Amino acid sequence: MSISKFKEIIDHAPRKTFLVKSLGCRTNQAEVLAIAGWLEKQGWKSDSVSPYLIIINTCAVTQKGFAESKRTAKLLKKRYPQAKIIPIGCGVSFSPQAFSFASFTFDNPEKEKILQKINCPFSFQINHPFPRSHRFLLRIQSGCRQFCTYCIVPFLRSSLISLPPAKAIYLIKQAEKKGFQEVVLTGTNLSFYRGKSFSLLTLLRKIEKETSLPRISFGSLNPEGISPSLINFLKKRWQTNSPRFSRYLHLPLQSGSEKILKKMNRPYHLSQYLKVVDKLTQDNPFLGLGTDIIVGFPGETEKEFKETVKIIQQLPFSRLHVFRYNPRPGTAAAKMEKEWGRVSKEEKIRRAALIRKIGKEKEKAFKEKLIGKTFPVLFLEQVAPQKWYGLTDNYIGITYPSSQNLQGKIVSVKITSRLLNL
Ligand code: SF4
Repeated sequence: MSISKFKEIIDHAPRKTFLVKSLGCRTNQAEVLAIAGWLEKQGWKSDSVSPYLIIINTCAVTQKGFAESKRTAKLLKKRYPQAKIIPIGCGVSFSPQAFSFASFTFDNPEKEKILQKINCPFSFQINHPFPRSHRFLLRIQSGCRQFCTYCIVPFLRSSLISLPPAKAIYLIKQAEKKGFQEVVLTGTNLSFYRGKSFSLLTLLRKIEKETSLPRISFGSLNPEGISPSLINFLKKRWQTNSPRFSRYLHLPLQSGSEKILKKMNRPYHLSQYLKVVDKLTQDNPFLGLGTDIIVGFPGETEKEFKETVKIIQQLPFSRLHVFRYNPRPGTAAAKMEKEWGRVSKEEKIRRAALIRKIGKEKEKAFKEKLIGKTFPVLFLEQVAPQKWYGLTDNYIGITYPSSQNLQGKIVSVKITSRLLNL
């Protein structure tokens, strides 16, 4: 479907009413909000009773996300038989046939063109806070060309786009004016954030110099995207009591076995990962460190699983996300599953439970280290009368008693086990 078709639908609509839905990630959510904002500027109204247009930003990153996207689109078609149903995005790129019942579809490249056409600092901006928070989500990078063998994303979002620093600064300044306290720099793969004359470090320097938002944090980063100069830059800033750059980094490890990392086509060796973590955490015991682990990847024997367990036990993680491997049709790992050796469902459940248990212990140990120390806390919401929920700058949640209104404020708090709910 071409961009002119989109224009034609908009220009010849008999009534200007619409509905938008989003499945999957925050990027999808940001995009439909941008489209909704643009439609409203053109005189359209959001209407859940009699919408003429229904735009559904679909997902295909997981099987569940894809199935839900199809189900939602079908349900909306049934509920609003007069409406034009328009699925867009990853689900359409993954399988256009799955949406053959729709009026029109736009795959990812077409969606990007629409977003550019409607001139939103578009897919890059979310113009409302996360629910419950004062954190501004700024997508600075889109797309991935790494082709990890288990991941469908590069097939769906292959073009690499990085938001130039000047634009990022403009958006952060807007966020400042709206009263946000934190900007979270996100992307499909922040390691690909770069341009002819800029890198992630260039952007951070500019943010530091030209903006005043008190907290700057990051989406996930691969170790190869963390240069020695970036480490030096961050470590210098982390030495103060209330650093602007968050002392929390999410570095997805996925496996502690070199053999499995190679099969996964991850862009680093285990030794590289360990080196980066070592440099980051040296003289920096309060750095929060998060990671993702996939268990039951094809060919993961008990030996390789134990290597993962050992590495996790060894590293100072404060947060662990554990996933059971699930084949995504079309990916290399799904094709090789038989040859490499399938891990049974029961075994995946056992391995995931074990890693989760270790993760909980590590999180508790990290929290205990904070007791008696003072950290800046951004308060996000009131959770009970005179009780506030906030996040330290190393991404630990606390509940804090106060009769004052702390919403959106950053306050220095001495951490106790009660505040941590330990
Ligand atoms: S780095 Fe790997 S896992 Fe992450 S989006 Fe790219 S291909 Fe997927």
